[in-house]
Amino acid sequence: MIYLDHNATTPISPEVLEAMMPYLTAEWGNPSSSYKFGSKLKGVVEVAREQVTELIGAHGGEVIFTSCATESNNAAIHAALMATGKRQIITSAVEHSSVLNYCKALEGNHGLHGLHGSNFTTEAQRTQSSQIGCHSERSEESQSCRVTYLPVDRDGLLKLADLENAITDETAVVSLMWANNETGVLFPVKEIAEICRACGVLFHCDAVQAAGKVELDVRRVPADYLSITGHKLGAPKGIGALYVRRKAPFVPLIHGGHQEKNHRGGTESVPLIVGLGKACELAKKKLPDYDKMVRPLRDALEEGILSSIPNTELNGHKTQRLANTTNITFHGIESEALLILLDQEGICASSGSACLADSDEPSHVVKAMKPDSTKSRQMIRFSLDESSHDAEVREALNALRRSSKALCS
Ligand code: PLP
Repeated sequence: MIYLDHNATTPISPEVLEAMMPYLTAEWGNPSSSYKFGSKLKGVVEVAREQVTELIGAHGGEVIFTSCATESNNAAIHAALMATGKRQIITSAVEHSSVLNYCKALEGNHGLHGLHGSNFTTEAQRTQSSQIGCHSERSEESQSCRVTYLPVDRDGLLKLADLENAITDETAVVSLMWANNETGVLFPVKEIAEICRACGVLFHCDAVQAAGKVELDVRRVPADYLSITGHKLGAPKGIGALYVRRKAPFVPLIHGGHQEKNHRGGTESVPLIVGLGKACELAKKKLPDYDKMVRPLRDALEEGILSSIPNTELNGHKTQRLANTTNITFHGIESEALLILLDQEGICASSGSACLADSDEPSHVVKAMKPDSTKSRQMIRFSLDESSHDAEVREALNALRRSSKALCS
């Protein structure tokens, strides 16, 4: 198998599995238990939290473990809306579905009311809401959110002036990604964070695809909330984290027990948390070499395709992009047909986000960049990592030449 789909998910690294094993076998206690067999695991969770904290340059106590980045993204936006009582969200047309579809749900007839049901509001929530000035008596209409989707240009970049113009007194949160999962395009997150700060608006950053590929430092990029997930980093699926700046407000999305200092109910999955912590530690160590190892291979694949396969076009900015990702339109060839032929040759790639892989519509990312693009999906995303090598790129190129020729004739 030649795996060129690391933006979809990554294999669990052997060191991560090794670190997790004791907590999948002998150490199966509940960290909330009062006896030592369980309670000693609290310390294990804190070590992992420290490892995540280190990867993103945060302070202790600013990281909450979640089940995935979809939850982290929902939780951050939810917290900002609940805490500020404001109802405008600013995002971009090219975000991941975990942001876009949450925003769409909030825009619907019932907004937060419908999603979280005022009838079911707990006493604790009511107290918290009134403390932070978010009135549960607000009419249904006023609970509904207004979402501004910032456009991008043909290279997938947004204009900072559009962000500045979109911010109003009603803006609860700006949610913009660090790196795009389909094209790898990097948003100017430092400038975005500074604009938000200057305007007194909360900033959430989906850093899922940037983690382990570029330096994430919340001191340099002062986001209020930042999401990551384990399975893009060599940890298992089902574990994510949300950074919440110490002074940023937080209202939980998931209510339950007192875990995570009352910020996220649910018994901690110690093995997964340990796995994420270890993956973050490894990612930090490998980061200085990541670009050097991955970029030449990605460039060889990209240049090989663009120079030898007719009617191909790069999607995404040439340089302001992750080192591992290339997204290419094969004009006149349906992505699905090409992916089937590649799969027959043992090559794994995708036509965009794995979460929307069953759609034959053009990707919302490419559509936002190139509104004139054709009605069907004709693009393929290839995403490499440090384990990729020359021979794989050569084989993938040969397979692509054969397959595209077969589909054109
Ligand atoms: N955000 C981005 C940019 C992603 O690429 C993904 C996963 O594809 C997610 C969020 C969702 O992550 P998870 O699968 O952990 O919910």
